[in-house]
Amino acid sequence: MTARASDFASWRAQARRLVEAAVRPEDVQWDDGVQASLFGMGHVVVPEKPTPATSSQVAKVPAAFLEKAAVASFHGDPQKYAVLYRPLWKLIRVDGKVLEDPLDPDTERLRRMLRDVAEEEHDMHAFVRFRQRGDRWVAWYRPRHPVLPRVAPFFARRYPSMPWTLFTPEASAHWDGVEIHYGPGAGTDVAPPPDALDDLFVTSRIRAQLPEGAVMSRLARESVTRVSKLSRRHVSASPALLPERRDLDSLRTAACDCRACPIGERATQMVFGEGPPNAQLVIVGEQPGDEEDRAGRPFVGPAGRLLDELLASANLPRDQIYVTNAVKHFKWEPRGKRRLHSRPIASEMDACKGWLLAEIEAIQPRMILCLGATAAQSFAGSGFRVSRDRGKPTGTPWSEWWMASYHPSAMLRAANDAERRALESTLREDLVLTRQALDARCVPRTLQPT
Ligand code: URA
Repeated sequence: MTARASDFASWRAQARRLVEAAVRPEDVQWDDGVQASLFGMGHVVVPEKPTPATSSQVAKVPAAFLEKAAVASFHGDPQKYAVLYRPLWKLIRVDGKVLEDPLDPDTERLRRMLRDVAEEEHDMHAFVRFRQRGDRWVAWYRPRHPVLPRVAPFFARRYPSMPWTLFTPEASAHWDGVEIHYGPGAGTDVAPPPDALDDLFVTSRIRAQLPEGAVMSRLARESVTRVSKLSRRHVSASPALLPERRDLDSLRTAACDCRACPIGERATQMVFGEGPPNAQLVIVGEQPGDEEDRAGRPFVGPAGRLLDELLASANLPRDQIYVTNAVKHFKWEPRGKRRLHSRPIASEMDACKGWLLAEIEAIQPRMILCLGATAAQSFAGSGFRVSRDRGKPTGTPWSEWWMASYHPSAMLRAANDAERRALESTLREDLVLTRQALDARCVPRTLQPT
């Protein structure tokens, strides 16, 4: 028997009827409708005389499976509809808990498909480059999986007021400021030639004037790969703790009880990030300090007050920035009656990384600025050195720009006035660079240039 589906909706309708008619996975051949366009309707062939299903066999498909299957249907594997039918069959007819069995080969295959689709989406977020052509911005990209309909809404949110077209070989998406329209794909001949914006994207136009611009582009690309590999490892390390809903309120509530590492036991409370949920800029610090731990808010102590001053001098109003920390609990050691800050170790940073990335995915900022080594290394690995690598805006899978600079507490701890002034002026410069990076492209969402 042949079943034909060209998209998730047609697969779903067909699969439901087949499973109710007791058609086993080995008895059905799925045709993914290669002739059909990405956005065409699927043609399905149902069994002529389906075996009547008993009421207990009427397919009640768990919503969690359907959500996963919908995402996996964007995989490029031509066998994907057959692959999806197998766990569905098992769920309904064999074992309602099959998705919880990590050793089941179909569950494992589904998991890999979801990972591939997620990675392709991350890569497109990071590597698609729009270039101006007349009054439209155009990009061409060859994805490994046909995820265009999943990533186009991301670009519509990122560039709401810029008309753009994103071509892939199979399909194209066109944003007119109101709606996304889909159309046919195109070859590389429509790809706009590289222009000055390429430099701006990977490092920055500001920095591209420097002789090391080309080297930085390469370093930036390497760092994107390194950073994205890192993030994938960590995201998959702690999904159990993350709530089903990933908006900031749900994340904050779920993080309150996090005990993925021991720090939470000694802290007064969990200190989550705060700021507009659609902020253009996310600033990441190390961990809450003594005052933050008592107040339950990030950067409200001495380092926070200094940061506020420097932000204001760079025309970066704090109330338009989402401010958070790499680690959400205060780690301290008793020293007499005082609680002395103690630096989190790698496993504690890893344990918190899922929260940080989930915050960033919820916000989808244009830029992430990490203050201090802990925050920077949480993204870029332990080889990152603030003194050497700060002040270099880089593309990442989660934001147009990522950059690190000194933490304001380094100024508060400076050995003398000269050192304090030097550190302060460097951080100030990096904040100005942040402001410039945000201003350098189309209309910002919340940071309006004055
Ligand atoms: N230092 C940080 O890194 N974060 C805070 O919230 C306060 C001080």
